[in-house]
Amino acid sequence: MMDGGTEAGLRDLAVACRVLALYGHEDKALGHLSWRDPAGRGLWLKRAHVGLAEIETPADFVLIDFKGQRLAGDAPLHKEWPIHTEIMLARPAVNVVGHTHPFYACLFAATEEPLRAIAHEGCYFNADVPRYRGTSYLIDTIPLGQDLADALGAHKVVLMNNHGLTFCGDSLAEAGVLGITIEKACKQQITLAASGFQMITPGAEEIAMKARNLTNMAVLGGFWSYYKRQLARYESGHGPLVVL
Ligand SMILES: [Zn+2]
Repeated sequence: MMDGGTEAGLRDLAVACRVLALYGHEDKALGHLSWRDPAGRGLWLKRAHVGLAEIETPADFVLIDFKGQRLAGDAPLHKEWPIHTEIMLARPAVNVVGHTHPFYACLFAATEEPLRAIAHEGCYFNADVPRYRGTSYLIDTIPLGQDLADALGAHKVVLMNNHGLTFCGDSLAEAGVLGITIEKACKQQITLAASGFQMITPGAEEIAMKARNLTNMAVLGGFWSYYKRQLARYESGHGPLVVL
């Protein structure tokens, strides 16, 4: 049996999976999102073998402890569970972790270019995003998960060479908005660089000010609500107004 708070949290987590799918993060059955168990037993991880867009109910999540042992749920487990356990072990304030393969973030992760604050989106990360430079294949062991958590450091997003993206946050709103925003920032930079036009960005002080203001939890919460409304609109038969 599952208590009401956990069940409600898993319903929110399912919505977050579908929001991410709508905003550029769907790649067949390969993405996953997790939420720290409110009772402290471990974390709830999206089930394997289906896409983020197909996640609908609490039964689509598996509860594992921090060693990857299954505690609840009978759905298949993603092999990359150590991404989630090791980041949550290293970062006690992180309650949500996502790992996905969005198109532009994957391209940008395969470069050595620093992230630039071309529009507001790059400023969320203070024009600074770390790169993980270990394996480009699965993060499917505890040591690999630890390496990725080390590369993430105190940041909320890490680009993984020739593979994808890992992002996290205190809340679904923070992790979700940052995951969507880094993909848009990568798209902006790749598009502008491909144009050959000269690029300008704000000064460091203005970027830092924008980073503080844009990542305020009230702002992130408002943006997350917007994305959820767009998902509801899409699922009720209307198209989303904007997808990246
Ligand atoms: Zn992956």
